[in-house]
Amino acid sequence: MINTICEDTLRSSLKRYFGFEDFRPFQREIIDALLNHEDVLALLPTGGGKSLCYQLPALVSDGITIVVSPLIALMKDQVDALKAAGIPGTYVNSTLSPQEIHARLQQIEAGLIKLVYIAPERLLTSHGLERIAQWPIARFAIDEAHCISEWGHDFRPEYRRLAELRKRFPTIPIVAMTATATTRVREEIAQHLHLRNPRAFVAGFNRPNLTYTVIPKDKPNEQVLRYIRERGDESGIVYCASRKATEAVAEYLRAGNIPAAAYHAGMENSERSATQDAFLRDRIRVICATTAFGMGVNKPNVRYVVHYDLPKSIEGYYQETGRAGRDGLPSSCLLLFSRGDFAKQARLLEEKPAGHERNHAFDALSRMVAYAESVTCRRKDLLAYFGDNLEQTSCQACDNCLEPRERFEATTIAQKFLSCVYRIRQSSGFAVGLKHIVDVLTGKTTEKISRLGHDQLSTFGIGNEHNSKGWEHIGRELTARGFLASSHDGFPVLSLTDLGRRCLTTKEAIFLTRPPAAKAPKRAELQLNDLNSEYNQALFDTLRILRRRLAEERDVPAYVVFSDVTLRQMARETPTTVEAFRAISGVGEKKAAEYADAFTQAITAFLAAGE
Ligand code: ADP
Ligand code: ZN
Repeated sequence: MINTICEDTLRSSLKRYFGFEDFRPFQREIIDALLNHEDVLALLPTGGGKSLCYQLPALVSDGITIVVSPLIALMKDQVDALKAAGIPGTYVNSTLSPQEIHARLQQIEAGLIKLVYIAPERLLTSHGLERIAQWPIARFAIDEAHCISEWGHDFRPEYRRLAELRKRFPTIPIVAMTATATTRVREEIAQHLHLRNPRAFVAGFNRPNLTYTVIPKDKPNEQVLRYIRERGDESGIVYCASRKATEAVAEYLRAGNIPAAAYHAGMENSERSATQDAFLRDRIRVICATTAFGMGVNKPNVRYVVHYDLPKSIEGYYQETGRAGRDGLPSSCLLLFSRGDFAKQARLLEEKPAGHERNHAFDALSRMVAYAESVTCRRKDLLAYFGDNLEQTSCQACDNCLEPRERFEATTIAQKFLSCVYRIRQSSGFAVGLKHIVDVLTGKTTEKISRLGHDQLSTFGIGNEHNSKGWEHIGRELTARGFLASSHDGFPVLSLTDLGRRCLTTKEAIFLTRPPAAKAPKRAELQLNDLNSEYNQALFDTLRILRRRLAEERDVPAYVVFSDVTLRQMARETPTTVEAFRAISGVGEKKAAEYADAFTQAITAFLAAGE
């Protein structure tokens, strides 16, 4: 049966149902493995196109594909999107009445359905398992498979019970999909699902369509408002550290005429899902959220993610920024960074009981700070954290690559700083914090300085070429570059490293960078390729309004009608005939039949008005 499915069938189904001309990286290989009845473990980054990998095989092979997903709230939208493309899918979960469930099961058993989405808790009842045992099951697709791991972020105990699938259905292949999994999590997935020699596909962590920027946090409300205003009608997420902050920021943005809403775990369930829904349907443009706004965000056209406060770890930061640009279009990530935020979080951690967990949290936080203060390529830093390597030296899509920080010859400056650290240590016998060192350099007569006699040191007051802020920046950069080491002695203290000591004796030349400006760089747009860049913005806006109306009429999110990628291509190629409309990527047969008239007429009218 498998070998009869040729390249042509796959390609024509790809165009017919999804409207796409080509496969994304790994899709073809994953699909082949599925059609070959193999177990598969696929790790594709967000936006990599995981769903198509099991949807297309479901269409071209016999039997039913069962999709296990933890996200009950999303199932309806996912199935609506399938139906909009003419794919017979359905879902069974606790949001449906018993009558509805009964009707759906009958449809399935009448052979009218190819894909069934089920939440694990429903599937894994003895009744559920007995029922599906009667069905001609082609394969199980386990979405968000990292939920099975205690080491991931989203451990769901009910996912552990998926182990029963292999026992009950030993001959049916299983495909596990996830966007975030370290080697350890991958191993756990394979082990708990009892995968048999799974074919593994790992696409890496790089998200080439995201730009990364960090700016010093300074009047953050104004910074965020300005940033959002520069982004027209586009949607975004602002992550904040506290519930109170989400509400305050949303309020501020609304006062600035931006349709924004808060989202956090303290809200009623109904209010949360209404907010999420309004965001999906483009009625709300900006969500100000705590990290409770998470995995369920399946909005493909989130164009920016702002971190108003410092994230607690790089994993979290990567996941949250990863929600931007799922559709592959250029999108940006902005982090507002302040040392004060770091100190605040460090203090909170200090209140926790000492032990492994606290050390781990400190470590994670310090690595996040190192990322924020890095002067090298941010993408390289992120990928290195996950053990991935970026080949090229510059990504041309992060602030440090696009606008390398100005460097200056700082040998004397560095010498002053390092020798001040040395003298203090020599005279007092213990290390002190950054602020005290800077006070000595700038010649402040604080109580602590008098008490310790540090106004008698030869380095007291030798640093009048910078103010305190300037010296603090220098101290941090010397630390980041390994001349000083920061350790925790009740509070953070600085001491010379071997490199720092060597530097004091050899007096080799040192270059440092100027501090960054507190203004977000001008829209450093990522030019992925020419295809993505040139389109008629006014026409795009017109088509977006049309899309929203059509989506409202059908009570589905806007992207179920067409993605931003598809609308942009329309705004670029201005198809006015059905033929030309069909050639647009993302226009399959069913959507062409349903929408060609509305869109080609709108485009014709737009062109006529412009003449
Ligand atoms: P993931 O689940 O991996 O985050 P999705 O399955 O949601 O990604 O797909 C992300 C986007 O990419 C969707 O808008 C989808 O329609 C689009 N897409 C998937 N495969 C292709 C393809 N072969 N060509 C063009 N677009 C694709
Ligand atoms: Zn870079």
